[in-house]
Amino acid sequence: MRSRLAILLTVVVTVWAGSVLGLGVKSVTARQVFHTQRADIVYEHRGELEELARRLGAVGPGSPPQADLGRLTDQIDGMLAEISRVLQRQPPAQVRLTIQLLRDGVQVQRQQLALRAAPSTHAAPGRPLESYYEPRLRTIFLSLADARLGILAHEMTHFILLESPGARTGEAYQETLARYMEDRFNSGK
Ligand SMILES: [Zn+2]
Repeated sequence: MRSRLAILLTVVVTVWAGSVLGLGVKSVTARQVFHTQRADIVYEHRGELEELARRLGAVGPGSPPQADLGRLTDQIDGMLAEISRVLQRQPPAQVRLTIQLLRDGVQVQRQQLALRAAPSTHAAPGRPLESYYEPRLRTIFLSLADARLGILAHEMTHFILLESPGARTGEAYQETLARYMEDRFNSGK
């Protein structure tokens, strides 16, 4: 009697544990990484990379779904190189930037809250956020719904200034240069 109860309990616990683990696996989203020379783009579905490429103008709006993502690599590395050139600041070669793609500004805001990061100077508190740079993780969190050249260039400027030897990193100074770079990329100069 006792051993049958023990077996029954074992079965119940095993089934319960299995379902919990199964649920756990389903709720964890598999993140993937797309490497450029200087950056790692974290995403969930290939479609997000294609969307980013379109939004940054790396591929045309009418390009096929399986667009050449080599153009995205060139675009990201080209932007980092151009910002470094204009600012005359270059992070060490081994320092890589992470760009994490999120669906929209609400997700970016949640991410910021989760990391207990300092409130962004770019948006009012409690409002969806297009993007922000987290220096401790060397990561730009970017809303795919809002992704544009200027926004990405702005956050890349924070990365380059904070990681380059000898660069001034005062907040006001950084912000001025980041906004300058944002306008420069938005106007296609
Ligand atoms: Zn900024």
